Amino acid sequence: MAESTMANGNANTSDWQDRYYHVDQVLDRPGPRTDPSFAAGEGVKDFLRNKCKILVIGAGGLGCEILANLALTGFKDIHVIDMDTIDISNLNRQFLFRPKDVGKPKAIVAAEFIMKRVPGVKVTPYYGKIQDKDDDYYLQFNLVICGLDSVEARRWMNATLVNLVDPENPESLKPLIDGGTEGFKGQARVILPTISSCYECSLDMLNKPTAFPICTIANTPRLPEHCIEWASVLEWPRVHGDKKVDTDDPEHIGWLFQVASKRAREFNIEGVTWSLTQGVVKNIIPAIASTNAIIAASCCNEAFKIATSSAAYLDNYFMLIGTDGVYSYTFQYEKRDDCPVCGGESMDISISKEWTVERLIDTLTERQDIQIKKPSLSSGDMHIYFQAPPQLEQATRPNLEKKVSELVKDGGEITVTATTLPFSLSLRVTFT
Ligand SMILES: [Zn+2]
Repeated sequence: MAESTMANGNANTSDWQDRYYHVDQVLDRPGPRTDPSFAAGEGVKDFLRNKCKILVIGAGGLGCEILANLALTGFKDIHVIDMDTIDISNLNRQFLFRPKDVGKPKAIVAAEFIMKRVPGVKVTPYYGKIQDKDDDYYLQFNLVICGLDSVEARRWMNATLVNLVDPENPESLKPLIDGGTEGFKGQARVILPTISSCYECSLDMLNKPTAFPICTIANTPRLPEHCIEWASVLEWPRVHGDKKVDTDDPEHIGWLFQVASKRAREFNIEGVTWSLTQGVVKNIIPAIASTNAIIAASCCNEAFKIATSSAAYLDNYFMLIGTDGVYSYTFQYEKRDDCPVCGGESMDISISKEWTVERLIDTLTERQDIQIKKPSLSSGDMHIYFQAPPQLEQATRPNLEKKVSELVKDGGEITVTATTLPFSLSLRVTFT
């Protein structure tokens, strides 16, 4: 971008044409910076600037970076979805927002900022949930970039794009670029729905889920996190009544830490610390602006390469580890045949003959490769347990105490669904 434009933000026509001068160095002719077979020239520039429609999910820490990068590399028809409003704590890193914007929708403020700052770029915001939109909406895009901090939203977006693929219609395949950060760590990946591994295929790479089943917390704690949840979810309300935990109050955290430590000693569990207590209670995902910048930049470079075919794109997983020096690693994550979204085969699960339905549900919630909150279970025509509607929950509740082996035969299939996920998981159960 021309320096004068940087300084005053007031682009006149000549700045406007200069804006993509450096990008054009890459796009005008094949060269050392591009793939030898790259079909450079006006056609590519025309596609990038006049035809390519890109959707950004999330206008937070990653989203702000992504929007700025896309606009400055020449994407001109950008859409953004975000369901949040701006909080004062966002301002240190979400640089499209100012103190006057606190309380306003992120998507709308971000779109206005980019359009004012980079004339000629159109950003269409949607303030709401990704689930509000239907297949036709998603079909209009050439590419989707996710910059989210929610596993649930990513799973939904991933499954939606996989389901969208119609083998008869190549246009229905929408590459998904997913970025994520946590402290000094991050990852960027390119998902070609149904072709490469999908988000669901690699679910077990995530850190531990933060939601724990209540009966584990109450009766059979095994992890330090279970003890901390016991202190905050069960003991705090019992002792303090209606008073809410203030996660910024050191006295409150101290109380939870003491109570959780005592519980951990009773069950011989190690690892309850002050910082873990604070982490579990606040459910903190620490955000570092510069990690977001690295990951967002990687995602946008991939978007640029895919949109222009100027160079080979990521195949398919880039990992950044900044906790111990700087280490990055790129590998091809493999598709899982038993992936509930893109695999088609049932997942095998081996459980004890003695396990109750409730125990199985706990396991589904906890297992790294499944992580289904509030699963409903059925087998063939039989409702094993349904979380909703209330009448069905009540009717199936007695099954929670029953053994799975009484309800399903060895090698039988159980279908697992959850209202938050647009797919079902098929389990083949064997008993030991
Ligand atoms: Zn998959």
